[in-house]
Amino acid sequence: MIPVFRSLLILALLTINYASFAQRSYGGFYTQEKLSNLQSNCNKYEWGKKLKADATANAAFWLSKSDEELWTMVQGQNLPRTIDVTFDRVTTGPKILGCLKCGLDVLQYGNYPYEPEFEKKPWKLTCPSCKSVFPTNDFAKFFKSAIDESGQFDSSRGDKSLLFNADHPDLKDPLHKYGVDDGFGFIDENGRSHKFIAYYNWKHWDYINKALTELGDAYLYTGDKLYARKSAIILDRLADVYPAMDWNPYAAKGWYGSDGGTLIGKIGGNIWETTLVRIFTDNYDKIISGTVDNPELYSFLKKQSQKYQLPSAKGTRALFMKNVDDGLLREVYKGALSKKIKGNQGMHQLSVTTAALALDSQPETSAWLDWVFSPEGGNISGQMTNNLDHDGTTEEGAPGYTFMWGRLVTDIADRLYGYEGYTKHDIIKEFPQYGTTFIAAYRMSALGIALPNIGDAGATGLIRNYIDPEFIAKGYRYTGNPEYAKAAYRANNNSAEGLDRDVFARDPDRISAEIKKIGESAGTRPEGGYLMSGFGLAILESGKGSSGIALTNNYGRTIKHAHPDMLNFDLFAFGNWLAPDHGYPEYATPMPSNNDWTGSTISHNTVFVNEQPQKEIWSGYSRIFKQLKGFGVFELDGKKAYPGLETYKRTMFLINSGVDSNAYVIDLFHVDGGKDHVYSFHGPPGVITTSGLSLTAQKEGTYAGENIAKGTGVNGFPRGYSFLYNVRKDLSPPGQFMVDWKVDSGYRTIKAEDNVHLRMHSLTQSQDIALADGDPPQNKPGNPKKLGYVLMHKKGEKLNSTFVSVIEPYKNKPFITSIKRLTTGNDEHIALQIEQINGVIDYVMYNSGTKEMKLSDNISMSGSIGFIRKNSNKTSKAVLINGTSISDGVLNLKSAGQITGKVVDMNEETSGGGWIIVDQKLPEGDLLKGEQIFVTAAGDRDASYSILDIKNEGEFSRINCGPISFVSGTATEQTTSPGNKYTYDFNKGAAFTITSHKEWPNTNQ
Ligand SMILES: [Zn+2]
Ligand SMILES: [Zn+2]
Repeated sequence: MIPVFRSLLILALLTINYASFAQRSYGGFYTQEKLSNLQSNCNKYEWGKKLKADATANAAFWLSKSDEELWTMVQGQNLPRTIDVTFDRVTTGPKILGCLKCGLDVLQYGNYPYEPEFEKKPWKLTCPSCKSVFPTNDFAKFFKSAIDESGQFDSSRGDKSLLFNADHPDLKDPLHKYGVDDGFGFIDENGRSHKFIAYYNWKHWDYINKALTELGDAYLYTGDKLYARKSAIILDRLADVYPAMDWNPYAAKGWYGSDGGTLIGKIGGNIWETTLVRIFTDNYDKIISGTVDNPELYSFLKKQSQKYQLPSAKGTRALFMKNVDDGLLREVYKGALSKKIKGNQGMHQLSVTTAALALDSQPETSAWLDWVFSPEGGNISGQMTNNLDHDGTTEEGAPGYTFMWGRLVTDIADRLYGYEGYTKHDIIKEFPQYGTTFIAAYRMSALGIALPNIGDAGATGLIRNYIDPEFIAKGYRYTGNPEYAKAAYRANNNSAEGLDRDVFARDPDRISAEIKKIGESAGTRPEGGYLMSGFGLAILESGKGSSGIALTNNYGRTIKHAHPDMLNFDLFAFGNWLAPDHGYPEYATPMPSNNDWTGSTISHNTVFVNEQPQKEIWSGYSRIFKQLKGFGVFELDGKKAYPGLETYKRTMFLINSGVDSNAYVIDLFHVDGGKDHVYSFHGPPGVITTSGLSLTAQKEGTYAGENIAKGTGVNGFPRGYSFLYNVRKDLSPPGQFMVDWKVDSGYRTIKAEDNVHLRMHSLTQSQDIALADGDPPQNKPGNPKKLGYVLMHKKGEKLNSTFVSVIEPYKNKPFITSIKRLTTGNDEHIALQIEQINGVIDYVMYNSGTKEMKLSDNISMSGSIGFIRKNSNKTSKAVLINGTSISDGVLNLKSAGQITGKVVDMNEETSGGGWIIVDQKLPEGDLLKGEQIFVTAAGDRDASYSILDIKNEGEFSRINCGPISFVSGTATEQTTSPGNKYTYDFNKGAAFTITSHKEWPNTNQ
């Protein structure tokens, strides 16, 4: 204990130095005005009464705990923590062992399968698979014996005689030491540790945050200082122990934490630490006003400081505030600087912002917030300029990760909104392009239902969309853009009820009322289909809602959490993904099942060239995009993923059958160059039948060879081939064959009576064809056991392949009766004749050259893409894309053809909107609204944009592409000529095209 005289002196000094902090009587974010609005809303509105009732009900449990119990919940550096019981980074054996009893069986319950029951089963983990409970010793007793004079656990101080299996107390019992954990894990016969307590303790930190959040909320809603006291006890103790927290000693043992390989952090790895501290500091901000005149709080803290050796004096509000300001808030800023608190972009910036507002003391608060924006610090401006595309997504290619920046920066904007202590930055005004982030998930969701599981996202075939109507509504609040109001309304089941309710505002439902007005007059979501050229996703749709069919193709990022899956597609039909991506890998860490398989090229629906995975790139380029009612087509160029090839592009169609709501896909995959091509395609999990193939089963091994076992890490054979097993081959295949998948019942929403199938009709000659099975990650709930792959292989010098396939999803009975690939005598021409039930015949034409295309039956086309549908021998529909004429001998459809020209001028700033001036007079107004302009790109990004409207300016036209920017990065000496501030998606003088179309009859969509 500190002698009385000295402690008085310290107290006096503190009072002088920290007088200003001690005086702040409200949080910087949870201000007096916010609290009084909230409390009056809770009396005035039914929803407010309910929120208040819920908050007090949630907090009731914590009130039942004594002050001492809450204080003891917080443990310090010496109580170990890890996020996996057995993961060992440094072992030469298997990295993960699973459950001590049932082994890897537990992995089917996810990456973090144990959910401790802190109250019912303290210090125990129950295996969700075999129900075993570990550790076997009475750890609670051992824990008590190991508390040191500072009130913290120290395993080395504990009573070792308590370390035995409670069910086997006899010393001679062989199980006497089995499953016993002293905090550092049970060491098995192979010397591997099973860290039950450390995992439990990791989860316990979330439990502490649950307590802080529920107590903090109850205080906000009620103003009752009892909640503030209980919360403050936890926070004060946290501030005692937090400065010494260091993840590195545990990481150094090879233990697993959220550190992305840095091995640094505080309580845990540096990434998730950002979230822990954000919740700590936000909850501190909540209860600051409740610590005024709270004598019981200070007498308790004083009592603790007399009982234990604590790092700071206790007993007054000033001492409490100083302790938490120093031990928590200032530690957060320090941790951000040292990168011990550093997550994905947006995370640490939000943590520091939250801490800065909780501190609410100048000049520190401003200095910290300056850091959030400055290039040397959180670099918000740099991130916006270099990594945010015009769809509001970032350099991350997987949905969850790519939305993160938008969500987190909006949270930062929310914090700063109305904060008078800092007005230097207004994120939304400074970066207008940021607005698109509010509708990114909404736009990426096929049929408004499902977002494709691209890269490290979701799970195999998981139906999920990340759409949050609240978030979209917030976009409307910040930008006033009525498009966001419409999207929020539609995403919220065509209602504005409660959207963007601001419980802290005097008029909490102002935004909801505005959204209602706009949403009601706009109506429901129209039939979709659009190109997200910023993210790199093409979506075609046929029909609406759950009965609709959607084709998605991702051609964006293959870096970071994406997979090298350029031009991969998926098909959503009958409410399910029928060519599903694996989704999130087994573990997002280097291991063969991820590096060679789920996270590599061959597991995807794309073409694997020269036995090498694709290169990691920012994006491919779009060349054509057209969505008409019942007919859609796109062409995407992915050549950059395979440097050295002449061509690597995919043209895909989604065509409504014309008889009912069925639709089929045409896939033309063009690969020119290289000496080995494998077209890889897999359908849904299910029973496979084939027609046209003579398959011989390979005796054993995998696609990598008879002698190479399933799952062998890449070693002298192409990456991923060892994950394709149960191989059946046809070594002299025909030029046309069919494979049918009958979807397993139990796959996502599929039931036995559904009888859903997917057919692939291939119309390509290859040298050999293999069918094989490949397993998606087995530790994700709902993932299928295996998927059936088709691998079409060609080998030779200077290969030039066009893989032509028709993909037909159907229920009960196929609707396509026959398909013919028509010979046209010209390699540049591809023509298909597709016969369907009820006498419908479709002719689909693709022309990569300039010569007119002629088929029998007097059908001809001058152009790139043509479509003629005959119904009982009479033409019922015709479409011409980028062409001048299409004819069936009777009907003659003419068009001016593709629009081409040059860019004369463009907006070169980050604000002011995406305008382009082109070298010609285009139709004015919104005649070309929704059409896509494709500009020749200057760099890594796709330079194609949706046209909003056009105005003529003399001989030129000004094209408005909406509130976006063409800036792709900050200029460096390497990237641009001197004097330029930025680099751009494209440059002045670049060529452009606008896709033309003509259809008959005109659906005028
Ligand atoms: Zn088990
Ligand atoms: Zn993937």
